Amino acid sequence: MPNIIVQKFGGTSVGSEERIASVAKIVQKASLDNSIVVVVSAMSGETNRLISLAKSFGDNPSRREFDALISTGEKVSAALLAMALQQIGVPAKSFSASQISMKTTSTYSKARILDVDGKKIQETLDAGIIPIITGFQGITESGDVTTLGRGGSDTTAVAIAAQMKAKRCDIYTDVDGIYTTDPRIVPEAKKLDTITMEEMLEMAGQGAKVIQIRAVEFANKYKIPVRVLSSFESGNGTLISLEENNMENGLVSGIAFQKDQVKFTLHGVSDTPGMAYGILGPLSDANISVDVIVQNISVNGKTDFTFTVSKEDEMAATDVIHTLNDTLKFDDLLIDSSIAKVSLVGVGMRSHAGIASSAFKSLSEAGINIQMISTSEIKITIVIKEDETDQAVNTLHNAFELEK
Ligand code: ADP
Ligand code: ASP
Ligand code: MG
Repeated sequence: MPNIIVQKFGGTSVGSEERIASVAKIVQKASLDNSIVVVVSAMSGETNRLISLAKSFGDNPSRREFDALISTGEKVSAALLAMALQQIGVPAKSFSASQISMKTTSTYSKARILDVDGKKIQETLDAGIIPIITGFQGITESGDVTTLGRGGSDTTAVAIAAQMKAKRCDIYTDVDGIYTTDPRIVPEAKKLDTITMEEMLEMAGQGAKVIQIRAVEFANKYKIPVRVLSSFESGNGTLISLEENNMENGLVSGIAFQKDQVKFTLHGVSDTPGMAYGILGPLSDANISVDVIVQNISVNGKTDFTFTVSKEDEMAATDVIHTLNDTLKFDDLLIDSSIAKVSLVGVGMRSHAGIASSAFKSLSEAGINIQMISTSEIKITIVIKEDETDQAVNTLHNAFELEK
């Protein structure tokens, strides 16, 4: 029995009939040496089109129907790729989430994968047929369609790789690997041959959209090697390695950034035990993830409490905070939706001091004001004005000579 490799193809990779035909060739070639399971995204632009279509009958469509609608793009590309493979003589079959029992939680648009039935996939492989599975979606216990959040096909692919005990998951995309930062923002960004799982968790968590954070979490948990590579040109791409050390990269391995962030400040909230929980608990109950958090020193028993959320959660977070006014009795709620986060990531930070100060020096020389700072062992995150993001990323990339 040959080894299993899961190949995932992103939106641009299946963006046209020609692209689908060339993806079929990649799958055909790989299937000569290994058993291949394929996961596809929707054709590029299609998910965005469906999201705008969802607003046709009001700004607040039912969340169930929203997911039912935006999950359809992947059905199209899966069936088309199966046809393209069949045309070149490779047996293939498309499968929807319900056909392989891809079970998720019931939080629409942010569902988490719980379980997948590997039997159907295995039977298909055993029959010499390549399964082509719709990414980005699942079904709830009661059979309703859910989606996994933007970029979720990556997670489908790694979850299937884990279930099938695949030897590797290959994420085919429109760049030839993982770079020190988004090459569309910093043209000198350097392609990495490897990156540690730990670094990739931080990079993806801080917005590097090349792979969804949940996919990296699955890969880390089930120890699945993941490779990111191009479907447009040949090459080895970047391996997200299970090794802990990073021999190749310097102190800072990469820079991630996230626009579309919102900063909430509860001004003049009473500084009593349980205040932070009183704010963050209800947000978490509403499935809103809060990232950078800062609480100021209190003056006369009152303080300011600031946190960031992503823009898609702005409305929901505003609603939650308004319901807290009675219990928390804050003076003002300030909402700033023109901010961005920029993060430096590298396992080398663990053993080296002074990285934060070098970063802050270069930003101050560029005249960029830092609004919030948060650090972990291998990451420094700053919050700045959104329209200074590209400049900040370029400045930091330069300062740490990541192009070398
Ligand atoms: P796909 O549709 O194949 O899933 P995505 O658009 O989701 O592709 O992800 C690929 C894009 O991620 C690249 O085109 C690039 O602009 C962006 N990107 C952001 N950060 C990085 C990075 N560090 N390395 C490579 N690409 C990155
Ligand atoms: N098609 C979905 C999206 O655009 C999922 C994906 O591409 O991974 O977010
Ligand atoms: Mg993607």
